[in-house]
Amino acid sequence: MKVSAETRLTAILEGTRAGTWEWHVQSGELVINERWAQMLGYEPSDLEPISIKTWENLTHPHDRRAAQAKIERVLQAEDESYESVLRMRHKDGSWRFIHARGMVFRDEDLDGPWIVGTHLDVTQQKQTQHQLSQLAESLPGIIYSFVMEPDGTYYYPYISRKTEDFYGFPPEVGMERPESIFEVIHPDDLEVVKDTIEYSYESLCQWVCDYRVLVDGTSKWMRGIAQPERETDGTVTWHGMVISIDDQKKLEEELQRLSTIDELTGAYNRRYVLAELESQLANHARHGSAFSLISMDIDHFKAVNDTYGHLIGDDVLKRFSDIVSARIRKTDIFARTGGEEFLILMPHTEISDAHILAEGLRETLEALRFRASDKEHIQITISAGIVGCHSRQVSDISELLAQCDQSLYEAKRSGRNRLMLREL
Ligand code: GH3
Ligand code: MG
Ligand code: MG
Repeated sequence: MKVSAETRLTAILEGTRAGTWEWHVQSGELVINERWAQMLGYEPSDLEPISIKTWENLTHPHDRRAAQAKIERVLQAEDESYESVLRMRHKDGSWRFIHARGMVFRDEDLDGPWIVGTHLDVTQQKQTQHQLSQLAESLPGIIYSFVMEPDGTYYYPYISRKTEDFYGFPPEVGMERPESIFEVIHPDDLEVVKDTIEYSYESLCQWVCDYRVLVDGTSKWMRGIAQPERETDGTVTWHGMVISIDDQKKLEEELQRLSTIDELTGAYNRRYVLAELESQLANHARHGSAFSLISMDIDHFKAVNDTYGHLIGDDVLKRFSDIVSARIRKTDIFARTGGEEFLILMPHTEISDAHILAEGLRETLEALRFRASDKEHIQITISAGIVGCHSRQVSDISELLAQCDQSLYEAKRSGRNRLMLREL
């Protein structure tokens, strides 16, 4: 079947629901088809007389100025074609989003240039896009798409505006220079982020990773969750979200800290020092590194309570702990293991150095008077058992603790206010 070019063109325009326009630049004459007018709720006859003024009156002033500047570039042959999305006023008063395209048409027979083109109504797409970006803004995190190609090249096709709040720069920066997203990740966490992405790339398992970002010298905990999808050429695209988990992490850290601390004295608790002792013993078994353990017990402490009361007794325990804490090294672990019983775990320490520390403490306490009231002062002494793990393998911590207690017991039995040493 032979069909004229004009019929075919009409069919295409019908099919695409495109409006058409032809504008004679010099005279301002404008020729439009029915669809051009119907898109805005009119019949062409409603708009008579039609000229470029009709377009100007219907177009949002802001968009009109932008479009005119673009048209000027086409006329000056700076751009090959014209393209713009304009808001145009519908008969019912609402704004419609119109995607306009056009190009210059020149011919010797014509009196100056015409610009000819099409209009498509993209209001629906624009509204969906707007709703999606509104949704992205209302989420408590960043949503994004991330693409990694088989050669390792990566980029972000989309990042929501919330990046500004968490990463300190607008999403355009990340989309233009994808490395900038990785540059704000805390150096200590960069490897785990990269490793987990690589694993997710290989396995297509969901990517989940907790990491810190470092913005203006402050680090904040984030959690990334994204679902990967592989295309046939091996490229993987993740769609996901990054949320702030800083408050949650700080709370976890605080709970973790509290669960290791003795409330009265601020020293570590029994559970913590025993766990540390366990890993110290493992270290000793593997590398043979020496360590020492001091078990201390305050002498006749019951008498302090009986004479001055429990509150004063508590105060003495606190001040005693402060004195010990001030004496030990950063790597030593000082813990309250019972009422007036304490342990000091000293990694990488020979028994001779542990002895020096314990003897120093014993002498200091012997010389010190704790104030109970204006007139009364308390003197306390300590007994201690010290074990040094040097060469011999100790099978478990209960054996070690038993040895230490045995030494302490001997110190008590032989008169208190003294130390007993055992080298293992
Ligand atoms: P020694 O160790 O020299 O044999 O005598 P001691 O009197 O210190 O020993 P004992 O183990 O018999 O008593 C420990 C006392 O410590 C019992 C209790 O009055 C006191 N005590 C234990 N825990 C606390 C505490 O948390 N606060 C106070 N104020 N006193 C405590
Ligand atoms: Mg005791
Ligand atoms: Mg005691």
